[in-house]
Amino acid sequence: MDSISDYLDYEIDENGCWVCTSHLPNKKGYAYITINGQRDGAHRHSFRIHNGEIAKGQVVRHTCDVRLCVNPSHLILGTNAENVQDRVDRSRSAHGQGINTSKLTDEQVEIILRGRDTPASFFANLFEVHSTTIYRIRNGLTWAQTITEKGLGSIAQAY
Ligand SMILES: [Zn+2]
Repeated sequence: MDSISDYLDYEIDENGCWVCTSHLPNKKGYAYITINGQRDGAHRHSFRIHNGEIAKGQVVRHTCDVRLCVNPSHLILGTNAENVQDRVDRSRSAHGQGINTSKLTDEQVEIILRGRDTPASFFANLFEVHSTTIYRIRNGLTWAQTITEKGLGSIAQAY
């Protein structure tokens, strides 16, 4: 039987995600591969190989939220509407917990500052905050105390 590992390489992370390492993500964060002439998301191919066909109008959703994950046990069928609703729910709950700066740790702020060549959107996705938050940190507008304590002022101002 075919396995998704015949078509791409992945690394298993601490959550059991099979994170695709052989193909770069597209703008939306999904890896695309071609199998038997069919170009589709790697996670969708993985679902097909391990669970069978995807019915028309159905989308393959990640229970783990890791778009590069191709672990078939992290993939479920759903509708696009459910997918959108999930994202809305998540962003609402993130706001409830005090999204933006209070959610970040000193370490994350340091990583953001040191990763100056990395797009803000990358860190925004990684730490589940708004891109604006990343810009504000980079410009020294928030987290000023951490920036000073860690001696990162020169990096912050260099942005
Ligand atoms: Zn996963």
